[in-house]
Amino acid sequence: MICVPIIGKTAADALHDMEKADAAADIIELRLDSMKNPDSRKLAWLLERKKKMAIVTARKFSEGGFRKLSFQERLEIYRGAILHHADFVDIELSSPGLLETLRPSLEQSQTKLIVSFHDFSGTGREKLFSAYAAMKRQFMAGKKKAYALKIISYARSIGDISVILELLERAKKEHVRIIAFCMGPFGEASRALCCSFGSWLTYGALSIEKSTAPGQIEAKLLRDVYCVNQHRHTTPKIYGLVGNPVKQSKGYLLHNGLFRKHHLNAIYVNFLVDNLFEFMGKLGNKISGLSVTIPYKEEIISYLDGIDSHAKSIGAVNTVVRKDGKLRGYNTDWSGAIRALEESISVRGKRALIIGAGGAARAVCYGIIRHGGHAYITNRTFSKARQLAADIGGIPLPLMQISAGKPYDIIINCTSLGMFPKIKQSPLSLNSLRKLSNSGTVAFDTVYNPEYTTFLNHARSLGLTAVSGVSMFRFQAYEQFFLWTRKNQGK
Ligand code: NAP
Repeated sequence: MICVPIIGKTAADALHDMEKADAAADIIELRLDSMKNPDSRKLAWLLERKKKMAIVTARKFSEGGFRKLSFQERLEIYRGAILHHADFVDIELSSPGLLETLRPSLEQSQTKLIVSFHDFSGTGREKLFSAYAAMKRQFMAGKKKAYALKIISYARSIGDISVILELLERAKKEHVRIIAFCMGPFGEASRALCCSFGSWLTYGALSIEKSTAPGQIEAKLLRDVYCVNQHRHTTPKIYGLVGNPVKQSKGYLLHNGLFRKHHLNAIYVNFLVDNLFEFMGKLGNKISGLSVTIPYKEEIISYLDGIDSHAKSIGAVNTVVRKDGKLRGYNTDWSGAIRALEESISVRGKRALIIGAGGAARAVCYGIIRHGGHAYITNRTFSKARQLAADIGGIPLPLMQISAGKPYDIIINCTSLGMFPKIKQSPLSLNSLRKLSNSGTVAFDTVYNPEYTTFLNHARSLGLTAVSGVSMFRFQAYEQFFLWTRKNQGK
């Protein structure tokens, strides 16, 4: 289930957000601590108007609340919630006075209790498991049961997600209803995955501006892209992107869309990875396949059982497939680039200028040569262009010499110049591009954000054909999807 926190400053704001949340939320959380002068009258007014189940929360400041509320103010809010039939109240374990005072009225009401524990400082395995054991003992035994336990911690590293998943697995075995995931950028993937590991719900923001905790994903993405409700208790296959950063990548939209289209029980999430060793050690065994991006395309190879011949020649892996328990690496960047280019021009026999000598350039150069083209490689750091040519083939050219010969049939930007946010940058000025091209030249940019870069806009202003990195991105992703699922995509 998806819970959308409502953080209006006034009751009218909160009602406005409640109405907006209806489309994505299964349940809402009224954060009374976000409201100016909250009281039970305002709460009653909101509860009368709710269309979804509601959790009422009034956290104190030290528990992550938005403003300072006295014990008495919080007590009155919770009493009002019980009196006006809120479906749930969420009270922190660190407020034992409130829990004790409210217990008798809770026992006689329909309002159910969620007891929560937050650790904003990190994800200590021992700390979380002993909090869980204590909460279970205190609140999950006998008649006076809480409805659910909630344990949320801050992920300081990607490996912390594994602690939360282990906790969810334990609670599932012990038939304890639990809500658990990690906050923070390293914890983001756990917010999309937790429901399939048994978390009763996950929290999603009404919008990025209205998020109430770091790393919160928008509720509509949780519903429509990650499809967390469909995956509840179904143990979907887990795929994902490993990289750092990963925010810019839109692969989750494409791959989750394809899983939906083919009715596959699978989910694709972005793993922000600070330490590949930790990720592979702690989460690697849960993964069915990976996309790999900067800076791990080479490092990943040492964690794999084998790589295919293309990836070996290029020296980089962007796709990992688990088959029969073994992890195998592939490179789909080279074929994605060629498929994108060949929609506009056949590469065979053509002169292609490759600007850049990093991972993308290696894959593109390999593809150009394999398809019978002539690769000329230039790069800011010339020694890397020379090394690329020695490893893969092609002719290295210092930047000063790129205009010495005939115009090129194909000019490819394989640098990160022009990528968001520095979208004004280009590897070639308009004038240089004019000198290096003729009317039949195709300009291709591997950068895909924005779709049309300054380099491609220069090309279009000269009347050249422009091939966007979006097209390469789509083709390399389709091939990844095929390697994972054996399902083919058209264009
Ligand atoms: P990389 O391995 O880090 O290589 C970066 C390249 O850019 C190097 O050649 C570097 O030159 C050059 N460069 C960086 N800043 C520069 C500057 N200020 N002036 C001149 N050259 C500069 O990165 P990569 O993996 O090859 O990725 C490059 C681009 O390709 C990225 O934008 C990435 O998003 C894109 N890409 C797209 C797809 C797709 O599917 N469309 C797939 C893969 C990659 P030095 O060697 O001199 O540092």
